[in-house]
Amino acid sequence: MLFFYGVGAYTRKKTPVKIYRTCSDCQTYNSLSVIPVFKYAHLFWIPLFYCGKDYILHCDSCGLYYQGGGVSVDKSIAKTIKPPLWMFSGLIAIILFLSFLFWDRKTSPERNKKQALELVADPQKGDVYEVKFDEKEFGLYKVNRIENDSVYFLVHDYAVANAYEVYQLGEGEYSESYSIEVGYPKDDLKAIVNEGYILKVRR
Ligand SMILES: [Zn+2]
Repeated sequence: MLFFYGVGAYTRKKTPVKIYRTCSDCQTYNSLSVIPVFKYAHLFWIPLFYCGKDYILHCDSCGLYYQGGGVSVDKSIAKTIKPPLWMFSGLIAIILFLSFLFWDRKTSPERNKKQALELVADPQKGDVYEVKFDEKEFGLYKVNRIENDSVYFLVHDYAVANAYEVYQLGEGEYSESYSIEVGYPKDDLKAIVNEGYILKVRR
């Protein structure tokens, strides 16, 4: 991992800040400018966040550069020299991503319910319902046929203990393991969604 993270430095030469100090080399009065060197932490070469700055002083008259440990500037000037936003790219991306996950997790039951209410109003053969049998048992129902006012489902042979795992029953080796058929009045399906026993409908 050692090679994939570290501290980078960015020297911003474009907009030097004029300071009123005399060059100790050529003695020209008020001839110095500050060039900031911003440091940032990076991960896989993506800037994560800003982590401090150093300064280079440049004499506009004789062209000498002062750099290294001894170079400092007044606090009032240091305060005005702000790091570029791109240095926070990684941090911003991480915050946005976590916010999205949080939002998605918090709102998905409600969004799934809304969609389920729409889809159960007009069931179609092949619709797959994620259902809750009880707090520790979740499974799949698949619409097999619709006759008169009844909807007949095939019940998946297996069940899982968590709602977020139930979609896995529809994948892989046992995805088509349905045997028992059960029927419900079509008009009851909305109520079953509202009671929380139909979690999600896939079409
Ligand atoms: Zn000078």
